[in-house]
Amino acid sequence: MMKRLLVVSMLHVMVLQSATIVLDPGHGGKYVGTANDAEQLVEKHLSLEIAKQLAERLRSNKHTVILTRETDVALDDDLITDLTKRAQVATDSKADLFVSLHFNGSTNKNRVGFEVYVPYESQYPIKCYSLASALHYDISHEIEPYFHGGSLGNLNALDGGIKASRFNVIKKATCPAVLVELAYLTNEESAKKLKTDVFKDILVTAVYKGIERYLTHSTQKVSTCSRPRCRRWQRGRVV
Ligand SMILES: [Zn+2]
Repeated sequence: MMKRLLVVSMLHVMVLQSATIVLDPGHGGKYVGTANDAEQLVEKHLSLEIAKQLAERLRSNKHTVILTRETDVALDDDLITDLTKRAQVATDSKADLFVSLHFNGSTNKNRVGFEVYVPYESQYPIKCYSLASALHYDISHEIEPYFHGGSLGNLNALDGGIKASRFNVIKKATCPAVLVELAYLTNEESAKKLKTDVFKDILVTAVYKGIERYLTHSTQKVSTCSRPRCRRWQRGRVV
């Protein structure tokens, strides 16, 4: 549950939101997710590593953070039940928000970038969009300078936008929920960057800032996007 902390300093008074946040490191156990064999990168390991670093950062800012898994395990032998159990963690902990962390894969090795997904159906369409919009804003702003001038091109090529999806893991969450695909493991340049602490830290910082932005402005729409699908979400319609 959200608690408000009043912080008074010599210069200003501000309200910090102390929230309960559930982070879902995508996959685990027999569900490995996507992989890049040449670079020895496996999505289930990378999502857990990023989630743990992100949890540490959020906890240092007084939030309660719960991970759907702390080790390399599946939550159930059955895939649908595995995904349902992840969402159930958010329900059981009365979470204020749920973020599922993933890395993408494609047979097209040139595909790059990040995507933020909101559920097609949610009790909280505006809050889901606000959370997605905040994450989209901060991921864009954090990764752009890092990729700038590289062979992966400009932010346009990297920005997969905000999309509606039927992913079970966010559809079943009983709080504002999004799923983030942070980068393509199957692209060689992205994979090489993902092996560096510098890029991992950029991604952790980006998601951390996005969550804080949402918590500070959760009743507002925090950024705008001109894509038709995003505009429909901004009007609060589930598409
Ligand atoms: Zn995944």
